[in-house]
Amino acid sequence: MIKRIDHIGVAVRDLDKTIELYKDVFGFELLEIEDVPSQKVRVAKFDVNGVHIEFLEPTSEDSPIYKYIEKKGEGMHHIAYFTDDIEGELEKFKEKGIKLINEEPVKGSSGTYIAFVHPKSSIILTELVSKGE
Ligand code: ZN
Repeated sequence: MIKRIDHIGVAVRDLDKTIELYKDVFGFELLEIEDVPSQKVRVAKFDVNGVHIEFLEPTSEDSPIYKYIEKKGEGMHHIAYFTDDIEGELEKFKEKGIKLINEEPVKGSSGTYIAFVHPKSSIILTELVSKGE
């Protein structure tokens, strides 16, 4: 079952500048900075009173985030929901004919497993997140 919003993902060109802005001006708490090789991004994770905002900087030109910024510019990229049963959710989506980017969970940041639902099916690019075993 989907439990809550896990985080909001925002695509940026320059992570260091973004960190300065959101740490020093907005005053958000920086939780961590992490490389996520499976998505070819560097991620800065902020906490805003229990809701996480993740800023994503592409680490290579074949990163999905690089392509996104080239096409649409910086900005809101995806919304992520936490689920206690990512495999079950993916099965349900497949049965309903929902278009998936990841048919199986892949490794996300901080030991999580993630899968993306195609925005053609979910209006906005949607990520499912579960804790690793
Ligand atoms: Zn995400």
